[in-house]
Amino acid sequence: MPATPAWPPRSLPRLFVRTPLSDDAAVALDPGQAHYLGQVMRRAVGDELLLFDGTSGEWLGRIDVAERKRMSVRIERRTRAAETLPDLILAFAPVKRAQTDWLVEKATELGVARLQPVMTRRTNSERVRIERLEAIAIEAAEQCGRTTLPAIAAPLALEPFLGGLGGRRLYFADEQGGEPVTSTLAPGPAAILIGPEGGFAEEERAAIRAAPGAVAISLGPRILRAETAALAALTAYMALA
Ligand code: SAM
Repeated sequence: MPATPAWPPRSLPRLFVRTPLSDDAAVALDPGQAHYLGQVMRRAVGDELLLFDGTSGEWLGRIDVAERKRMSVRIERRTRAAETLPDLILAFAPVKRAQTDWLVEKATELGVARLQPVMTRRTNSERVRIERLEAIAIEAAEQCGRTTLPAIAAPLALEPFLGGLGGRRLYFADEQGGEPVTSTLAPGPAAILIGPEGGFAEEERAAIRAAPGAVAISLGPRILRAETAALAALTAYMALA
């Protein structure tokens, strides 16, 4: 028996980088990543890690420089091709910060392609920090094994959102009733729309229902919190897709 058992294996750190990856590429990690790998994960020259750049899949690399604030990695080989995700937009009226963060993290794990904040009459969060949401999505993608990041769009008012759907189906989660979710969702380009904590105003609800391709869906007899409703609808769609 070896003095240091090889089992269980140390799982490889997995990081998103903005440098395009390819065989034998040299990748300089940013100072935050260098600190995390060197000081937190105690990785050193010669150690392996996984990197992804959001477009070219996932790659195995080996640390070739490990200084306190500078670390670089030499790419050895591709471990996975880029995944193809269902063409799904999750449109949501931003809720409080912690709940919006949770929603972005979980939607990323579940494989959403695009997150679209939609400002409605009763939206109770006026400010959406896109950079913060992108950082949350990156961390979630690093942890769950995604090879792509969700696009996080700038907030839109409800009307331009409805006008810009370009023919995709719009599943409108309506707590006042709609088609049962499991018998209505179909694979194909779609958007799911979740309302704010205060619900949609009556004229907003009418405009959504009248939008081309809109179908009201029910997620059951209870009033769910907005982020719970988003995840329930997303999970149902992903199970089908
Ligand atoms: N203020 C509203 C009320 O009291 O009736 C509740 C709004 S709910 C907290 C936030 C959003 O989650 C809704 O606008 C809707 O999009 C979605 N939602 C919650 N429960 C739902 C359900 N059972 N079916 C479909 N959508 C639901």
